[in-house]
Amino acid sequence: MSIYDYDLFVIGGGSGGVRAARLAGVMGNRVGLAEGHRMGGTCVIRGCVPKKLFTYAAGYSEAFEDAKGFGWTVKKPRFEWKKLISAKNREIARLEGLYHKGLENGRVKVYGSRAVFVDAHTVQLEATGERVRAEKILIATGGQPQSPNFSGQDLCITSNEVFDLEMLPKSIIIAGGGYIAVEFANIFHSFGVKTTLVYRGELILRQFDRDLRRLLQEVMVAKGIRVICNTLLEHVERNNKQLSAILSDGTVVAADQIMLALGRVPNSGGLRLERARVAVDAADAIIVDRYLQTTVPHIWAVGDVTNRIQLTPVAIHEAMCFLRTAFENKPTALDHDLVATAVFSHPEIGTVGLSEEEAVRKYSRVEIYKTLFLPMRNTISGRNEKMLTKLVVDGESRIVLGAHVLGPDAGELIQLMGIALKGRLTKDVFDATMAVHPTAAEEFVTMYHPNYIYRDGKRQDN
Ligand code: NDP
Repeated sequence: MSIYDYDLFVIGGGSGGVRAARLAGVMGNRVGLAEGHRMGGTCVIRGCVPKKLFTYAAGYSEAFEDAKGFGWTVKKPRFEWKKLISAKNREIARLEGLYHKGLENGRVKVYGSRAVFVDAHTVQLEATGERVRAEKILIATGGQPQSPNFSGQDLCITSNEVFDLEMLPKSIIIAGGGYIAVEFANIFHSFGVKTTLVYRGELILRQFDRDLRRLLQEVMVAKGIRVICNTLLEHVERNNKQLSAILSDGTVVAADQIMLALGRVPNSGGLRLERARVAVDAADAIIVDRYLQTTVPHIWAVGDVTNRIQLTPVAIHEAMCFLRTAFENKPTALDHDLVATAVFSHPEIGTVGLSEEEAVRKYSRVEIYKTLFLPMRNTISGRNEKMLTKLVVDGESRIVLGAHVLGPDAGELIQLMGIALKGRLTKDVFDATMAVHPTAAEEFVTMYHPNYIYRDGKRQDN
């Protein structure tokens, strides 16, 4: 007879926590899970899933315009925010139901409550005060938007609120230049909202390849999104029905809504981690080793609460590694290298591996292959938006180090390029691959000659 109530107790019902709990249950373990909000976490409730639904909705705005070039007559399409929100809510409720069903199938006992540590084997459910003891504990509490302290910060929204606004604003200011800021600037602009993006750097999306950043920013500005760079949002005031953002250069911009998209921080506060002696770093991220073990051997952590790569597939993969290590006696470390990712802007960005700038810093001989072209769908539609495909190649081993794309369906495309890069394929394999014609993706296998190369950091044009 075990001295514990559970073999595994999971704190947090997001992508990582639910996957770990469900499969641990299916394996025959006694599993409990605490979630104080809705099941599904950031990704399902107020992140990737509703965002992608909004992205699809936004895409129709350009599709209606483009259709004319292909012979369609489109009469005054009208967008209704409330209808989108209701449809989105129905879909999120459906997915949340599936998450609950999956947990039921794994015989996981779900507690609708936040949980805090009492000691290293005991957690207390805040809603009822009940205490449960578990042999192993997994912390999967995710993250939350970072909100720097400035005057008027409480007047602003974040990605937590944006999915449920009562009304579509007529104008919005978005602070930040990362994934969320860029995606929402494009979404709101497509819905006809006067959109201003305020970013502290010189060019949006700092971690991405410079060609992608420059081109996307140019396209966004050409569409009519106001992009203000090298500037901080310093404070916010309410003026009658509108808000005013006072920027570091003294400019005042007024809008109906101001959204902060300034990064996300780990949700570790309030867990009373000190009672279990689980250590956090300076950013409050739970410290884990390569096997996701915290400073306490039977307590583990996965996903955004560890603040490494804040992406849903990473959290899910980490949950699978945790299960193998903790329950199958097969220590499995997650390989965080070559994680493909997309920014769902209009046009999209897809990227995997090293940017040109990173490769030049790390390799002595680098070859750059790139092509900028008008994709076929943008020809007779009259949409003057070019597509970019780019490969970054190690000139010595010929291994493709980075693949980058800006254009329609870049997210879908980069998923498959991720396999090629993970397989450490050389440029010669790309060259030997037959093109699928006519597609935009064929450019990736028909760029035979480098546009330029670098030797020891110095660019040499052909
Ligand atoms: P990001 O890290 O992508 O971007 C944060 C932005 O805020 C950066 O532009 C950063 O500037 C800026 N910033 C940070 N602190 C400050 C500050 N104090 N003052 C002014 N600007 C500041 O975070 P997001 O919030 O956009 O998204 C959070 C995470 O969620 C992402 O990192 C990503 O992992 C994930 N995500 C993934 C998506 C996808 O896969 N498509 C979509 C949405 C989110 P600087 O660049 O100069 O540091």
